[in-house]
This record gives sequence, C-alpha cells and structure tokens, in this order.
Amino acid sequence: MRTLGLLGGMSAESTAIYYRELNRLVRERLGGLHSAELLLWSVDFAPIAALQAQGQWDETGRLLADGARRLEQAGAEAIVLCTNTMHLNAPMIAGAVGVPFLHIGDATAAALKAKGVKRPLLLATRFTMEQTFYKDRLVAAGLDPMTPEEADRGRLHAIIYDELCQGVVNPASKAEALAMVAKGRAAGADGVIFGCTEIGLLLGQDDLDVPAVDTTLVHCEAAVDFALG
Ligand code: GLU
Repeated sequence: MRTLGLLGGMSAESTAIYYRELNRLVRERLGGLHSAELLLWSVDFAPIAALQAQGQWDETGRLLADGARRLEQAGAEAIVLCTNTMHLNAPMIAGAVGVPFLHIGDATAAALKAKGVKRPLLLATRFTMEQTFYKDRLVAAGLDPMTPEEADRGRLHAIIYDELCQGVVNPASKAEALAMVAKGRAAGADGVIFGCTEIGLLLGQDDLDVPAVDTTLVHCEAAVDFALG
C-alpha cells in the first residue's frame, strides 16, 4: 500500500471526514483490520483563512507548498489537499514536490461524468465559485458548471466559514442551501457539486432529486485507488 500525505486542517471538521473515510474505504477493499497508511499535516486554519480573506494567495501557496514538502520528506507518496478552495494553489503545491498531487477537481469531474451530469450547480466558498481555477478544470473536462446568484454565494460562503468549519450544522442553513439548489434546478442544473469539503455535513444525496457529487468522498476514493493501485 502506498502512503498518502494529507494536507489538512482546512477545516479540521472536514479533515476528520477524510481520515474516517480513507480508513473505511481501505477496510472495505482489503477487509479485516486493514486501514490506510497516511501522514497528516494539519494546519491552524485561522491564519490561512485570514490570508484568503486578504487575497494573499502567494503566501497561502508558500505555506501549503512547505507543508507538502514536509509530507514528502516524511515519506508521503502522494499529496491529498483536503480542501477545494486551496486548490487555487494547486500549481504551487504540486510544483514543490516530486510525488503526484491528487487534484480534487479531477476526481469530481470524473464522478459527475459517471453519473451523467452535464450542468452541475457548484456549491462552494466564494473563492471556488467566483474565481476560475476550479470551474475551468470542470469546463476542461467537458462540463458546464453553474453557480448560485450573487446574494446566495455570499450567504453560502458565510454558512461554510461561520458554521460548518466551526462544527455548527444549522437546520435553517440547510433549508437555505436547499432553496439555492431549487433555484439552480429551475435554471437548468442537472446535478449538484458539494464543492467544499464541509458541505457533506449539511446536505446529502437523500436531500436532492438530482445526482450529487460530494468532493470529499470522491477525493477519498481517488486517493484509495492510488494507494492500492
Ligand atoms: N474546506 C472548504 C473547501 O473545500 C473551505 C475551507 C477552505 O477555504 O479551505 O473549499
């Protein structure tokens, strides 16, 4: 089994899901007492989030590239960056190491296509919904992603940072997110991307009448494919 290097803590709430899910998948595939071989570099998210808010992406990239390097030095055979938003820095992070960087957008695009989705509604942070780094990756894979309208993007961003990343799951926020999905459906969305690694805490496939792809779960699947492949 290959050793995975997780770059996590963004937030710690979703990194806990990665840890649980990676171990569950390895046990499911190998049976018995098998579990994932992994290293975790978990950052303090507060300074990273402050840099994000200030648009200091060179600095976040420098910090995360440094974390990836430490993981590689400790024996990681691939890097798994446990957040969609920080894939904005994917080129810097991937460029800092010699081992593969398992991009969350690739796992997401493949899962959407396997479910026959063409026009997914992207639910994510403002950074992921409004900048090009993530949507372009989906477009390059032949998809036509949509995002909620401006006010809803702001509200969703707040739900992510002020609630989910702090371990708060609020039923009223879930109702708001489902209303965003209903609007997206009316505007032609044929699927939903949980494009933030905490959104699976709020929504599940059972809440929706179109296929959903939870980026955390498909990223874990891709990582286990690599580890056991
Ligand atoms: N975990 C979230 C994501 O997947 C947001 C936190 C962050 O900015 O990294 O985008």
